[in-house]
Amino acid sequence: MEVFYDNDDAGLKEAALWVSDNWNNDALWDEFLSLGPFTHTEVNVEEIVGYMRSCPNNIEVQHFTPTTQRDKKKYKKTVAYVTSGSPFKVFYHTKFLNRTVSQKVDTIVHEFVHLVDLFCDGSGSWDYGHERFLGGSRLKSAPYMIGRAAGRVHNGGRKRGLGRQILYCGTEEV
Ligand SMILES: [Zn+2]
Repeated sequence: MEVFYDNDDAGLKEAALWVSDNWNNDALWDEFLSLGPFTHTEVNVEEIVGYMRSCPNNIEVQHFTPTTQRDKKKYKKTVAYVTSGSPFKVFYHTKFLNRTVSQKVDTIVHEFVHLVDLFCDGSGSWDYGHERFLGGSRLKSAPYMIGRAAGRVHNGGRKRGLGRQILYCGTEEV
């Protein structure tokens, strides 16, 4: 899998490059396989990680900036999201471009798990997402745990500097 990003944020550029360059790094996959069990799913860790690893598609990260008051409010805490109408695209909120590269790695991989869930595992349905609104159990869902693990590997194994997870994903399961 390669991550394409054709815009001007240095941190997202670095994060996209790091994920692309490290996608075949066994340390990353060992880390993913050590996780779980995940909340909000019946699918086990090995299956999800298998779907991720065998997904042949690349992804593209684009910016989004809400313009109306209504959308600014709706996306106030949303760092990124994917949607069923835009296969293999991740929409990254420009308000959160000040996050660290490790946090951006976390976000990209988190959203990739959603894209695999929707478009790459053959089921065509949501099978390992998380609820839309704030709640502790979603932090143990596959996208949160796998994204966080990728951020941690990027961060040299340290949890410090990965920030709060609660500000995060606006992907809606529809
Ligand atoms: Zn999510």
